[in-house]
Amino acid sequence: MKKQLQEEFEKIESELQEMSRELFENPELGGEEYKSSQLLIDFLEKHEFIVEKGVVDRPTAFRAVYDSNKEGKAIGFMSEYDALPGVGHGCGHNLIATMGVGAGVVLSKVLDKTGGKVIVYGTPAEETNGAKVPMSDAQFFDELDAAMMVHPEGESSMSGESLAMDAIQYSYHGKTAHAAAAPEQGINALDSVIQLFNGINALREHLRSDVRIHGVINEGGTAANVVPDYASAQFYIRAKDRAYLDEVASKVQSIAEGAALMTGAQLSIENYELSYDDMRTNEPLSEAFRSNLEALGEETILPAKKSLGSIDMGNVSQAAPAIHPYIGMNMPGVVAHTTTFANQTMTKSGMDALRKGGLSLAMTGYDVLTNADLSREIKRAFEETKK
Ligand SMILES: [Zn+2]
Ligand SMILES: [Zn+2]
Repeated sequence: MKKQLQEEFEKIESELQEMSRELFENPELGGEEYKSSQLLIDFLEKHEFIVEKGVVDRPTAFRAVYDSNKEGKAIGFMSEYDALPGVGHGCGHNLIATMGVGAGVVLSKVLDKTGGKVIVYGTPAEETNGAKVPMSDAQFFDELDAAMMVHPEGESSMSGESLAMDAIQYSYHGKTAHAAAAPEQGINALDSVIQLFNGINALREHLRSDVRIHGVINEGGTAANVVPDYASAQFYIRAKDRAYLDEVASKVQSIAEGAALMTGAQLSIENYELSYDDMRTNEPLSEAFRSNLEALGEETILPAKKSLGSIDMGNVSQAAPAIHPYIGMNMPGVVAHTTTFANQTMTKSGMDALRKGGLSLAMTGYDVLTNADLSREIKRAFEETKK
């Protein structure tokens, strides 16, 4: 049967390559991926997927379903298609997009025999305000037995972890006054921000080593002879898991409150970007993907990278068994978010990655649909890692 998946892939391969080129030549930023999402939707509709557009109030998000209307598992593939300012598809989302829809269409061709359904999710703005967050909040992924995507990279590697992340702004409201003539009448908001930084630096010593806290002062007053009546700082706070991150964020909040007491300024706190949850790789699913990728001739698959970033696939992985592996473009050491990376997606090695990544996704989906032992293991592993 996997031979049939390969044959189905070959039928659409040149079209997938053309779509990847079209995305590459017309990069659109997060939330503005109108042409990119329409290109993918047209392709899916041509292959009889039922597409719901503009889900979760994101005009460029979509959910595309192909249902066999027979008993079976639900397999989900994520397509990302946002680009970056200045470097276009420097993160290779043109390949993520086409591997996702390619896997969906290939798997749909055998669904009559396996039962179940396949769903392709169009998930915009991964680089900024990831749509997978509101989509998981709205329980889009709860029905899935497997949620998968592949990200291009220099070399192939296994799906790993990412950090949970909160993006928090602390704003202090004080009182302006002449800094020399009447300082006793002022309340210095900037001093609160400075105490906030000092307090966080004192806290660091007593936090787990997986925690990352990094911030900037985005407003800090206007003139040295005017007591600043407003100052604010934006921080990213990250940790290996959501539970510990919540603990750390609450400690930072206490520091922020203490910093307000020290000057008499009023504090307000807000999230300035969406929060991402930590990525939890489903190991049995990850193993199934690896063996399919190996069967397609991929010789080197590195262990999971020690990633200290945060991805919106993390939120998906809390709702369903999930993987986020990397497919190599035969360029070890290449740095993402560069034009070199973008250009590599268009080479023969980029096209090889598209085929191997897309096909491995489809084959792994097929395994979940047809191998009852595997899907039982996946389910058990998911229950164990759930909070
Ligand atoms: Zn990126
Ligand atoms: Zn990316």
